[in-house]
Amino acid sequence: MESLPLELKDAILVGLAVIGAIVGVKWIFGGRRLPPEKTFRCARCSVVEAHSARTIEAWRVGKTKLFCGSCHAKWLQSRPRASRTSRRSGSGCVGVLLFALVVPALVIGGFYYAHRIA
Ligand SMILES: [Zn+2]
Repeated sequence: MESLPLELKDAILVGLAVIGAIVGVKWIFGGRRLPPEKTFRCARCSVVEAHSARTIEAWRVGKTKLFCGSCHAKWLQSRPRASRTSRRSGSGCVGVLLFALVVPALVIGGFYYAHRIA
């Protein structure tokens, strides 16, 4: 492993870390679109309510009918338990969290490795 000059190794490590960080940030924030307005009209009771994390998520997946908090609670209660698929939305969050942990770890690890061998 002495074929590469140390500076080049450092440059490759830092370069990879920077690319990883840029891709990570773009990936995380690129999908974070927000509705054009801060409020929405409930599709059921027509009340105007401020967007919550739930309605923003629904808006992102292309739902045009948004429900206010109380209508959503009623809808949840009326829904049969067997058809609940709330676990599916969790995997995306875990992926983002994992990526947010891996990228800084890669950057710190890259710098640590570069300084350790220098
Ligand atoms: Zn409502």
